Amino acid sequence: MDVQIRIKEIRELLERYNYEYYVLDNPSVSDQEYDRLMQELIRLEEAHPELITPDSPTQRVGGKPLDEFKKVTHARPMLSLGNAFSKEEILAFHERVKEVIPNPVYTCELKIDGLAVSIHYRNGEYFLAATRGDGITGEDITLNVRTIKSVPLRLKEPVDIEVRGEIYMPKASFEKLNEERANNGLPLFANPRNAAAGSVRNLDPKVTASRNLNVFLYHVPDALERGIKYHSEALDYLDRLGLRTNKERRICKSIEEVYDFIDYWSKHLHNLPFEIDGLVIKVDDLEAQEQLGFTAKTPKWAIAYKFPAEEVTTVLKDIIFTVGRTGNITPNAILEPVKVSGTIVQRATLHNEDFVKERDIRIGDKVIVRKAGYIIPEVVGPVVEARTGAERPFKMIENCPVCGSKLVRKAGEADHYCLNQNCKARNIEALIHFASRDAMNIEGLGERSIEYFFNLGLVTSIPDIYRLKKEDIIGLEGFQEKSATNLINAIEKSKENSLERLLFGLGIRYVGSKVASTLAKTFKSMDELMNKTYLDFMQVNDIGEVIAQSLVEYFQDPDKRALIQTLKEMGLNMRYLGQETMQTEEFAGKTFVLTGALSMKRDEAKAIIERLGGNVASSVSKKTDVVIAGEDAGSKLIKAKELNISIWNEETFKEKIKPYI
Ligand code: NAD
Repeated sequence: MDVQIRIKEIRELLERYNYEYYVLDNPSVSDQEYDRLMQELIRLEEAHPELITPDSPTQRVGGKPLDEFKKVTHARPMLSLGNAFSKEEILAFHERVKEVIPNPVYTCELKIDGLAVSIHYRNGEYFLAATRGDGITGEDITLNVRTIKSVPLRLKEPVDIEVRGEIYMPKASFEKLNEERANNGLPLFANPRNAAAGSVRNLDPKVTASRNLNVFLYHVPDALERGIKYHSEALDYLDRLGLRTNKERRICKSIEEVYDFIDYWSKHLHNLPFEIDGLVIKVDDLEAQEQLGFTAKTPKWAIAYKFPAEEVTTVLKDIIFTVGRTGNITPNAILEPVKVSGTIVQRATLHNEDFVKERDIRIGDKVIVRKAGYIIPEVVGPVVEARTGAERPFKMIENCPVCGSKLVRKAGEADHYCLNQNCKARNIEALIHFASRDAMNIEGLGERSIEYFFNLGLVTSIPDIYRLKKEDIIGLEGFQEKSATNLINAIEKSKENSLERLLFGLGIRYVGSKVASTLAKTFKSMDELMNKTYLDFMQVNDIGEVIAQSLVEYFQDPDKRALIQTLKEMGLNMRYLGQETMQTEEFAGKTFVLTGALSMKRDEAKAIIERLGGNVASSVSKKTDVVIAGEDAGSKLIKAKELNISIWNEETFKEKIKPYI
């Protein structure tokens, strides 16, 4: 390809990625992919220096500041760092340094994956904080950074000083945040770095405060002027001022010691409670730093060593096809589960037919898998030497795996499409409806999770929901041990729902929640319902011709009958639970008040009481029949005693409801 065209192409891509990463805090590609393109551009520009332009991404730092924030001009530019991806490149850096200083000593540090911050103190008092922005002008984030608890508002000495460092989000906070966002149907952050940036560059400091951010300081821009001679000494000075520095720094007197540091952290990076995307190697002597100077974008006295994406091999057990939002068909690798970069991977996208064919990936192949940051795992390619001959070549399917309609590959496109507009949407909608609050009420199985599981091929039908196992979902975006356990428990619990929820959830035409309730109350069990005739249904109050007809059609459809049978075998309750219990002497027609701390959720207790025929009121009055008092009950309990109302503790309540739940 013509070099000029390729350069233009890469620049456009990098511009777009920069915008997504720095301005939107929402990258669409992995850092490795970004770095790979950047390296290609650097190589091309090195070979063709006449093509370098000042606005090339190789010449500029970061992204533009957002308009909504006040601008801050940095007294000294905040630069990026040059990158090295191998020990050879570290050695080349060392050689360049040695041309200026014969025996360099380095401070090696962790490269915290967050966003750079400049913090100013006046007379020891917190005064201003700014992002790096484009290196010259940043955004004023003073109010937001104030909310980070490890940023002291007063230093231990009353100095005027600018300090620089990295704001980051600990892994645990990141996971929790994404879990919450998944539950609320919000888009997930791709990695802790973007979550940190999104939290800091938020116009509402309350949002920043809620995100549990932290900071490490690693730079004093005017250290030399303060009589400090070494970078390591500047870091100690930061400690003395009461600022938080990272203690995993090491002074290395030879390149071998630098390699040791690299080897150590290459093995241990996943044990840290925060993300690092590499290490930073800095010339320790500050005067030597001055001598070495800067390029337009990076200091010449420091380099970032970037960890390669960890690659592992595993077996490709199968390739399954899923349908995307636009009807695009994606082949997905089903892998022998394998740990990559700290999480278990068992599925990976294979993108499209061309991707698989170009790499000649076959079912049964040993394949190389990598997980680039927190972004989707990918199959790099097969290990051809490991083939036994038993591998099956890939064949693209011709029909939609969901609705069976003929797939179409448009000219010039890599994807195959299912053109049936209703296909996937209908299936997903049905699943969303089934799990929704008024139907089976499966907490944690919202629209987003369903779509996500659907795309992975994990849940494409109602019974699939009940086939989900914890192992299937742990490690998927937004699912950690706890959220996966909660979801599986919620699914299990939904099996006990009363018949009307299931009836409504099945999505029978014209059967809304009220009709479902009437049907359940009248016929009591699914078996009864399935054998009723049109005339039987017409006997029921509130049910007219249209609903009766729809019910008969549904229950006579062999597929629907098979579905119900499957659900029954999976242990779903097929009976109406409300009617019998409504008659309970203890609850029916009585008014209850809940007070104090109960071990179950208030909503849950209320729902049970209501199901058993009682009402729940918020305050105690003469009309109250029973007060259920949990721990530390206060004024309501006192009033109940005064009015001589029956009082149950939680244990009594549980005893009374036991027969019915
Ligand atoms: P960088 O992340 O490679 O390195 C410079 C930054 O490192 C500094 O500005 C500072 O914020 C940080 N840092 C962390 N710990 C440090 C320490 N101990 N000492 C000094 N600095 C430390 O450079 P960058 O300009 O911030 O970002 C470029 C990188 O961002 C790219 O190489 C790529 O990996 C990623 N990126 C990705 C996308 C994408 O779409 N995925 C887009 C743009 C950039």
